[in-house]
Amino acid sequence: MALSGLKIQKLLPRTNCKECGSNTCLAFAMKLAAKKVELSACPYASDEAKRVLGAAAEPPVRGVKLGPDGGLRLGEETVLYRHERSFVSPTAIAVDIDETLPTSQLEATLTAIGDYAIDRVGDDYGVDMVSVTQRGDRAEAFVDLAKRAWEACRKPLVLRSSDPQALTRAAIAVKGSGSLIAGVDAEHADALWPVAQQSGHAIGITAPDLDSLLALSTRLRDAGCKDMVLELPALSLAERFQLASIARRAALKHGAKPLGLPHLAFLEGDDPLDLAVTATTEICKYGGIVVLPCFDPALLAAMLTLRLNIYTDPQKPIQVEPGLYPIVEPGPDSPVFVTTNFSLTYFLVSGELENSGLSAWLLVPECEGMSVLTAWAAGKFSGAHIARFAQSIELDSRVAGRRIVIPGLVAQISGELEETMPGWSVLVGPQQAADLEGFIKTKFS
Ligand code: SF4
Repeated sequence: MALSGLKIQKLLPRTNCKECGSNTCLAFAMKLAAKKVELSACPYASDEAKRVLGAAAEPPVRGVKLGPDGGLRLGEETVLYRHERSFVSPTAIAVDIDETLPTSQLEATLTAIGDYAIDRVGDDYGVDMVSVTQRGDRAEAFVDLAKRAWEACRKPLVLRSSDPQALTRAAIAVKGSGSLIAGVDAEHADALWPVAQQSGHAIGITAPDLDSLLALSTRLRDAGCKDMVLELPALSLAERFQLASIARRAALKHGAKPLGLPHLAFLEGDDPLDLAVTATTEICKYGGIVVLPCFDPALLAAMLTLRLNIYTDPQKPIQVEPGLYPIVEPGPDSPVFVTTNFSLTYFLVSGELENSGLSAWLLVPECEGMSVLTAWAAGKFSGAHIARFAQSIELDSRVAGRRIVIPGLVAQISGELEETMPGWSVLVGPQQAADLEGFIKTKFS
C-alpha cells in the first residue's frame, strides 16, 4: 500500500544533507510519496528503506507479462474505479479452439484470428491470445493443436486441459511463447508451476471457492511462484462480478497480495447477447484475460471498442500531432479544412473528407486534444490561434488556393480569421462532420 510522506521520512537517514537535491529528508519523502523522485536519489538509504519502499511501490495488482517478448501486460492496476486515475493493462481477449473441431475449421479459425484487425482512431487492434482447450481424450491432438496455434498466430496461448501430463507436454512444446497454463488446481500446482517457470509461461490457478483460491495463491506465492492469474470460482455472472470486486477490493484496500493478481475468465455458450453482456462485465470489472468461446468478428469489434474506452486514460485526451495533413493527393490549389487535434474529431473529419473524394488539406492546430467547441471556449481555437499555427508551418508558401473552411460550430471566428489571414477566403463549413460530403458537393463541384 502507498506510504505517506511522514512514514517514508521515518525510513530515511534524516540528516538533511541535501545530496538528493531536496533541502530536507522530509521534502524528499514528500516527493517520493508523490512518485516524483526515485529512492535511488538518496545515496544513504538503508537496505530496510529499500525493502519497505520497494514493496510499497509495487502495484497492488501484480503485473504479469505474457508473449515471447513479454509484450502482453496484465495487471499493474492501482485503482478500483477508472475515474480515480485510469486502468492500466487492457483486458486481453482470447478466442478458444479445441482439438475436436475438424482440421479445416481449425485452420480457417486460426487464419481468421491471425488476420483479424480493426482500426480505431488510427491504431490497429486484434485478438491477443489463442486459447487451446482439450475436450476429448487425445492428448497428442491437444499438444499438436497448441503447436499449430502458436506457429500460425504467434500469439501467446491459454492452455487448458484436465490432464496435467497433456498440459506439461503442450507447455514444453510451445516453450518461449510466454503462454498461460490454465486450470491449475491445488492437486497439480506443485508439479505444474515449475514446468511453467522452466518454459517461460505463467499459470492460471483455480479452486472451488475464494477461500481455497486464496490459500492456493498464498502457498504458491510463498514457494516463489509469482506469475499467476486467478480463475475465480463463480457460476453465475452476478456471482463472478461479486467475487471479482471482492478480490480487487481486498488487494487494493487491504493489501491482500495473494488476491492482487489479474483474473482469467472462460466464457461459455453461443448466445451472442449473453456473450456480449458477460464479456462487457469482464472488461469493465477487472478482467485480465477473457476467453471467447468462438471467433465472432462482430463481438470482437464491439469488445475491442469498449475496451479502448475503458482503458483510455480519462485525464489525457487522445490527440493527433498538429500539422497539415493531405487528403486524397491534394495540390497547391486544393482547399484547406480546419479541425482540432482531438483524435476522435480528427478521424471523423478526415474520414468524411476522404469519403467525399475531394483533394484537400486538413489543417490541425495544437488544441491540447480538445474537441472543437471545448477548444474554442478555452481560447485554443480562435481565429488568431489558427492563423498563428498556419504561419508556423508556412501554410502560405505551401498552399496557393487560399481557401480555408472552418467548422460551422465556430462560425463566429470567421471574421477574426479573415483579419489574421489576409488574402484567404474563409468559408464556414457544416456543424457536423457527417454533413461535409453534402457541403463539398455544393461548394466544390
Ligand atoms: Fe535525506 Fe538522503 Fe536527501 Fe540526504 S540525500 S537529504 S539523507 S533523503
